[in-house]
Amino acid sequence: MINLILFGPPGSGKGTQAVKLVERYQLVHISTGDLFRYEMGNNTPLGLKAKEYMAKGELVPDEVTIGMLRNKVEAHPHAKGFIFDGFPRTIPQAGALDALLQSMNEQINGLVSLHVADEEIVRRILLRGASSGRADDTDEAVIRKRIEVYKETTTPVYDYYDHKNRSYTVEGVGSIEDIFDRLCATIDTLKTARRAS
Ligand code: AMP
Repeated sequence: MINLILFGPPGSGKGTQAVKLVERYQLVHISTGDLFRYEMGNNTPLGLKAKEYMAKGELVPDEVTIGMLRNKVEAHPHAKGFIFDGFPRTIPQAGALDALLQSMNEQINGLVSLHVADEEIVRRILLRGASSGRADDTDEAVIRKRIEVYKETTTPVYDYYDHKNRSYTVEGVGSIEDIFDRLCATIDTLKTARRAS
């Protein structure tokens, strides 16, 4: 199994790249943002709860997010591995993910972060908002709040895996193909390292 965290601020291209990585490495893609949007679209109790936080650009509480993630992982017992996209976003989420994987005799092999400057992020998300139908992509104040939450609450997750020598940064600016090639180069190193150990 190879388990990856695709990391980076909102609008850094995680979703776009995850689709391509899933195809290349045959992994199961789990995006907590997509899962919340699906629940919202179906007006489930979970979706209604998540909506309050998402609309403000805040994080959905850990216990809700972790429970949803755990169910999704457990629904794929035969997966060759997972790409976690938009999760973990807090230190407690990272701890819960490690515990879950450990219970399956697995671990996170690498966290790969897409680096994109703030103003480029705002520009990209507003552009996406024009067609995505996502309420949190159209209000610049909400976008800036999401960036602030990322910096304050989520970047410590990068350091958490960096202490385990598992964090990597890739430049997230350029063509989709160039960024994909950079990601694959990093992931292939991880795969080689795994084979050697
Ligand atoms: P995303 O599509 O990953 O940008 O997520 C959109 C929104 O969903 C975020 O702004 C949060 O409100 C919520 N969300 C997604 N993933 C998480 C997570 N791991 N923890 C808490 N909230 C999340």
